[in-house]
Amino acid sequence: MPDSKALAAIPLIPSNTAPPAPEYPWPAPYKAAMFLSFDIDAESAWTSKDPAHAARLVTMSFGGYEARVGTPKLLELLADLDLKATFFITGWAVDAHPAMAEAVLKAGHEIGHHGYHHLLPDPGDPFIIEEIERGFEALQRRLGVRPIGYRAPFGEFCEELRVALVRQGIVYTSSFRDDVRPYRHRLADGKQGTIEIPVTASYDDWMHGLSARFSPRSIFPREHVLSMWKDELDEVRDWGAMVTTVLHPQVSGRPMRFRLLREFLTYAKSCQDVWITTGAEIAANYQRHEAATA
Ligand SMILES: [Zn+2]
Repeated sequence: MPDSKALAAIPLIPSNTAPPAPEYPWPAPYKAAMFLSFDIDAESAWTSKDPAHAARLVTMSFGGYEARVGTPKLLELLADLDLKATFFITGWAVDAHPAMAEAVLKAGHEIGHHGYHHLLPDPGDPFIIEEIERGFEALQRRLGVRPIGYRAPFGEFCEELRVALVRQGIVYTSSFRDDVRPYRHRLADGKQGTIEIPVTASYDDWMHGLSARFSPRSIFPREHVLSMWKDELDEVRDWGAMVTTVLHPQVSGRPMRFRLLREFLTYAKSCQDVWITTGAEIAANYQRHEAATA
């Protein structure tokens, strides 16, 4: 049970004081948008839960699938559909699987920052700054890339992280769950933060498609997930808003999930009012309209 002192310390203001998302139009002829993004955690998805997993070889093999099969297959799919996406890659995954990361870059996709060891950026965590710096360093050293986009491991944030990312030149982040359009963060001191491209759990494939020894559960079939993904997209098209996918090659690179994703993306492409694009493009669209209305 929380004690009364801890309860009294909860501020009586919204946790996010950013103004409402501006209704900037999407580039013509589009009426809605899809931020097509993937998170490559590889084995760091597992070692971030427990470093001792490094010696549990079958647990690690879930992540290893990303380099062996999942990522190459997804790159094939994106090439077939002529789509460009953003891949948020942990520094560890880039160091352990440089050829996989180089293939993503070579295919023309955007590379985003996703921490180094995929550690949860919890308030007060001593690794927050080190995770950011080591992630940048690995992407620069292996790929020659300085990313402008960041997605938090485990999708968690704190004020220290928001401030540090602005200081490091990150332009957009994509982790918050509180909108259906991009908006600009306002830091606790009132200064401007990053542009947020919000996400929703319905497009996180991990929720529906992964079962492991430490989270044994049934996975959802194609019909179930496809109906959810289509409904969310179709309603968002009516709203003129956007969706963000959070797809993992160790999930969506599996044959059944791959088939499902191909069907969904083929459907999304057939909706000619949906702008399917990278985070960098969505952030640039936001910046153009923000500058024009300033
Ligand atoms: Zn991740």
